[in-house]
Amino acid sequence: MKIGIVYDDCFKKHTARYDHPECPERLDSVIEGLKRAGVWSRATHLSPVEADRTLLTTVHDEAYIDLLLEKIDGRSGNLDADTFFSQGSKEAALKAAGGAADLALKVHARELDWGFAAVRPPGHHAESNRACGFCMINNIAVAAGTLLKTQSAERVAIVDWDVHHGNGTQEQFYDNPNVLYISLHQWPHFPGSGLSNEIGKGEGKGRTINFPFPAGLRDGDYLFAFRNVILPALAEFKPEHILVSAGYDAHERDFLAGMNLSTNAFAVMTQLLQAAAAEHCGGRISFYLEGGYHLDALADSVAATCNGMAPTSPILEPDDPSPQGIQIVNQTVSQLAPYWKTDFSALQ
Ligand SMILES: [Zn+2]
Repeated sequence: MKIGIVYDDCFKKHTARYDHPECPERLDSVIEGLKRAGVWSRATHLSPVEADRTLLTTVHDEAYIDLLLEKIDGRSGNLDADTFFSQGSKEAALKAAGGAADLALKVHARELDWGFAAVRPPGHHAESNRACGFCMINNIAVAAGTLLKTQSAERVAIVDWDVHHGNGTQEQFYDNPNVLYISLHQWPHFPGSGLSNEIGKGEGKGRTINFPFPAGLRDGDYLFAFRNVILPALAEFKPEHILVSAGYDAHERDFLAGMNLSTNAFAVMTQLLQAAAAEHCGGRISFYLEGGYHLDALADSVAATCNGMAPTSPILEPDDPSPQGIQIVNQTVSQLAPYWKTDFSALQ
């Protein structure tokens, strides 16, 4: 297995002037998880280069990029109440996006079997013209947009299991029929979007799938959504690459949200997506770090993701879904029916 890791010490130079959960130590936890799973030492380490304007404007407005890069250049401050920047942020943000695009292209070309972008700042809240929720540049959107723009891929799927809805990624591809965006998240919760009836617009209608789960749901609820909707949707859509917004803040120990996933849930979700990638897109799958704020849970969950990618690791069967989980999955399914051949309503 040839595994690609994107990491650079510059990602730790993006710092807040006050205590902030999106802290540089998170990357120590990610590396600890990669080491514990035996991935760090045998991986191919990709040195990220700064994304240029062409790459960034694949998904972001030119005026926003100009304004952002001028504002954060050599300074520190805040773009909104949550989104800080420091002297090291510009290099970190540009290399995070550049590294994400490079990883996607190398996995897509099969130079790598799979890959993990251990990057900061995270990206999935960043919209085409707006920073949001600790995010300035949408790394996974830049990666997906690059695959489409270079015509490496005609169709890509983004699965976002971060506990927060990826409003930025959704917005950037909302009318794009070639990007299937699927998010499982806590609702109501930050950023407030991601209801079941947000399904895309225009030609992209039906290509956005949201599971707005109440706090407290568990592994069995997530698995229920995967088995009944996400995996059949991937089978019908037939993506050429599966990109994962790998946030780990749905973990039961995370303090920024109230979801109750065990560490094992991340291994199970990974195994299911790996199997889908093997079946539909020659195994092309790549992971991009988003949230995850409990430092120990983050290390454990990243290790679980790596273990999920190991062909021999056993699946531990999660609990049955809860009535609330089944209700939300049903609610989402009812919105999708007109746009898919698959009958998602035969819930199991
Ligand atoms: Zn999050």
